[in-house]
Amino acid sequence: MSAVDDGDRVVVVGGGWAGLAAACELAARGVPVTLIEAAQHVGGRARTIELDGRSVDNGQHLLLGACTSTLKLLATIGVRESDALLRLPLDLSLRRLDGGETIEMSSLYLPAPWHLLAGLLGMRGITLGERLKAISGLPSMLRETPDEQETVDGWLRRHGQSPDLIEGLWEPLCLSILNTPGTRASARLFVTTLQESFMGSREHSDLLVPKVDLGRLLPQPASRFIETTGGDIRLGTRVTHLRADDNRVTGLHLADDTELPAPRVILATPPWITAQLLAEHPQTAAIAQDLAALAYEPICTVYIQYPESVKLGAPLVGVLDATSQWVFDRSYTGHPGLMAVVISGGGPHMDLDNRMLIGEVQAELRRLFPHWPEPLGGWAVREKRATFRAAPGCETLRPAHATALTGLWLAGDYTRTGLPATLEGAIRSGIQAAQTANA
Ligand SMILES: Cc1cc2nc3c(=O)[nH]c(=O)nc-3n(C[C@H](O)[C@H](O)[C@H](O)COP(=O)(O)OP(=O)(O)OC[C@H]3O[C@@H](n4cnc5c(N)ncnc54)[C@H](O)[C@@H]3O)c2cc1C
Repeated sequence: MSAVDDGDRVVVVGGGWAGLAAACELAARGVPVTLIEAAQHVGGRARTIELDGRSVDNGQHLLLGACTSTLKLLATIGVRESDALLRLPLDLSLRRLDGGETIEMSSLYLPAPWHLLAGLLGMRGITLGERLKAISGLPSMLRETPDEQETVDGWLRRHGQSPDLIEGLWEPLCLSILNTPGTRASARLFVTTLQESFMGSREHSDLLVPKVDLGRLLPQPASRFIETTGGDIRLGTRVTHLRADDNRVTGLHLADDTELPAPRVILATPPWITAQLLAEHPQTAAIAQDLAALAYEPICTVYIQYPESVKLGAPLVGVLDATSQWVFDRSYTGHPGLMAVVISGGGPHMDLDNRMLIGEVQAELRRLFPHWPEPLGGWAVREKRATFRAAPGCETLRPAHATALTGLWLAGDYTRTGLPATLEGAIRSGIQAAQTANA
């Protein structure tokens, strides 16, 4: 590793997607950069893991065409979108476990917002009267800025959305976008995200399904980019304290009891670690206190392996009235017969042990697809703090990049990006923190 006490060097702490984006942005600008990561791998909450010899993701991820910073970063580090992501129009199919009518939405190739209105108008499984009500109300719903304390559920009811529309359209959207159920999710954050995804160009609402494991999508190519442009990556290196003197950052204390001089630091650790590191300094104690007040929501991904011939018939299918919420066919990522079942947000499923949860998901898939053969195996991956809870008022707890300590900037999905905790939010924050640090 080269010396890091040169004045221009920026040390990025945390090799999740925010830290990787910050380090790539700095490396691309010719700024010397050192990335420090506590784990033995980069990727953070979006990484590849090994399950019984299979390499899968710690959680099935989905992106939208509105993830413009992500797409730009992938291009910068040499990843071609067509090699890494499957781009699909916003066509959704949600099935009821009890065999009731499937809800289908096809967005058609129309410019925004007509594609969405056409999709709602043509929706199957919801009465025409309810669809027309949703369409006539949509423009004013998406134009307003809901009160900071209003929940998504309250906002939908205020706009006269029927229980069927809430259950069949809005709740699955809310859980997928905010990873928070509508009864405890912020209407303001929901509306902002919908505006960005559905009111811009039609392509913004395209679904982008990874065609490769998450590690190969961004963490590995980003690491190669950082190293080939002269940056250092130090894995297995945990920062335990931030050193500061006279309102300036001076360095980092590491878990092996060594000191790393660092006059410029981008802290890209998860919010609960950032809170610990900032609490020690009076200049950043208020940020630490706000972060400590954030709550979290889990995401469980249950992988079920079937014989390789089994196919879902679409990259993803939604499920209503069930523990399973979305089923993804992993044959699109090179794992034929493997289904990834996503369960966003907390709920009674969190009280089940893995064996019971896998059994419940297998039983649901058996009811949905009775013609499928028996599964060959199942695994559950639980991320208890997958995202911060997008609760009303959470925006006031999210910090900006700059801090009152000179030479210290924050990056991560929890910073004030205007987006919920997403890959796009993490990347945007990393790039913006790098640009501020290099301004
Ligand atoms: C199961 C699951 C499914 C998800 N699905 C989606 C989805 O479909 N679409 C979407 O957009 N988003 C999704 N998300 C959210 C998305 O993954 C996160 O928003 C994003 O990965 C957060 O990135 P980050 O860099 O901000 O934080 P993190 O990924 O948490 O990165 C922080 C890094 O800091 C490191 N670190 C921690 N402490 C230290 C220390 N003391 N010293 C050094 N390093 C340290 C950590 O090891 C980690 O690598 C999902 C998340 C999960 C868990």
